[in-house]
Amino acid sequence: MSRKISILGAGLVGSLLAVILRKRGYEVTIYERRPDLRTAKIGVGRSINLATSARGWKALELAGLKQEFESIAIPMYGRYLHQMDGSHITQAYSKNNEAIYSVSRGELNKRLMSIAENEGATIHFEHRCSKVDLQKNELTFHLPDGTEQKVVADLLLGADGAFSALRDSYAHSDRVNTTQNYLEYGYKELNIPPDANGNMRMERNYLHIWPRGKFMLIALPNMDGSFTCTLFLPFEGDVSFANLHTEDQVKAFFGHYFKDAMEMMPTLMEDFFANPTSSLVTTTVFPWHFGDRNALIGDAAHAIVPFYGQGMNAGFEDCSVLSRLMDKHGNDWTTILNEYEIMRKPNGDAVGKLALLNFVEMRDKVADSKFLERKKIEKDLGLKFPDKFISIYEMVSFSHIPYDTTIRCIEAQDSLLQNIMNEGDYFTNIHNPEFEKKLNNWVAGYHETVQLFDFGNEA
Ligand SMILES: Cc1cc2nc3c(=O)[nH]c(=O)nc-3n(C[C@H](O)[C@H](O)[C@H](O)COP(=O)(O)OP(=O)(O)OC[C@H]3O[C@@H](n4cnc5c(N)ncnc54)[C@H](O)[C@@H]3O)c2cc1C
Repeated sequence: MSRKISILGAGLVGSLLAVILRKRGYEVTIYERRPDLRTAKIGVGRSINLATSARGWKALELAGLKQEFESIAIPMYGRYLHQMDGSHITQAYSKNNEAIYSVSRGELNKRLMSIAENEGATIHFEHRCSKVDLQKNELTFHLPDGTEQKVVADLLLGADGAFSALRDSYAHSDRVNTTQNYLEYGYKELNIPPDANGNMRMERNYLHIWPRGKFMLIALPNMDGSFTCTLFLPFEGDVSFANLHTEDQVKAFFGHYFKDAMEMMPTLMEDFFANPTSSLVTTTVFPWHFGDRNALIGDAAHAIVPFYGQGMNAGFEDCSVLSRLMDKHGNDWTTILNEYEIMRKPNGDAVGKLALLNFVEMRDKVADSKFLERKKIEKDLGLKFPDKFISIYEMVSFSHIPYDTTIRCIEAQDSLLQNIMNEGDYFTNIHNPEFEKKLNNWVAGYHETVQLFDFGNEA
């Protein structure tokens, strides 16, 4: 008999999952802590816009939603790096002109909820779950009128985000390992509105970055012509949020480090003092499921820091994997959830590590000329050896290669690039037959090493 599925959380992952499950004929009920975003005047929480890449698109396509979302997505073909001296450099993301896409989190979430409802899912808003009795599969909800409600789920999927009530209930049971690591950095969102004529004040199709070594500002384009900026800065220390208490301090800080951005931010002071300074957390948990009764998905299973733009993409990939396992195992949820955990847990851990590594790249390395040269060489290698070399960034953002495989390739790729760059200027050397011979050998060696890893598509 087909299972009745309860989903905790009508966020991005919970809503998309509901669409996928409804299309397969499951009865789906979602419980969401917040009021309905589509009617209530409330913020959507973290980050106004998100970068969507191949893994996210694949899951949206699977749910039949790709076209719907193309209309609200802005392609970003590379990084636009704003240097301290006011100059800029651009850096393409891919050798094939592929893009990642800036999408409004609120708009995406609202549309996914509506599509889930149109497909026949029921959403109960203002149902905050405080705990789950894992043996009985019983959820306790707190309702706005102060009452408590208990619901027993048949199959429960916890898509309730980084501070998941279901994960918390796992953490309080026997033989469950959880970790939670906060970064010493916080973030604050700011805004660059369109100019007086309604035009964008910067190039539209880029992810803008002001890399400043230990900290950075980034900006993603919005459909209304504005950019949402995010300042990532240490909480404590000389240059930190702790030392930005007055308007004079904020003005001096932006005037020194982000002068060109400040000139495009007429509401900087209001935004800076009104918007919260939020924290960034990485979480892990094992196991991801309890028998065939309940399981974690999305941020509830693997909350990560946002520097690779992969949190939602990884959560959407969880949905694609579940969908593929439903194709394979029908209604056998014991096997589905076992395989889901085996396939996804290493990848959840790996994407968390990749996200932390990319923070150093974005805030610091992108300002370094050697690093920029390396990126150019990587693109050329990808074109010259398309069946042997693909850069780490392209594996993460433009492929479905498991994150775990990607992270295993880093060392071999570093060593290959080190060999190449030790020989001097690559773009001069490449015309030298002797160097070309060495290059062929190095690339063949690299390929031999990484071939040992599983390059199969994740979903
Ligand atoms: C600053 C920032 C920038 C980011 N940028 C990107 C990006 O560019 N690309 C990308 O892929 N990812 C990005 N992410 C990550 C992305 O936001 C998350 O990975 C994604 O939102 C996870 O979706 P989710 O549905 O699992 O969780 P959430 O989006 O957190 O949704 C969880 C839902 O569960 C509800 N809920 C929570 N607790 C309860 C409860 N107790 N009872 C009932 N309901 C509950 C919440 O109200 C919410 O609706 C970013 C994150 C941050 C912080």
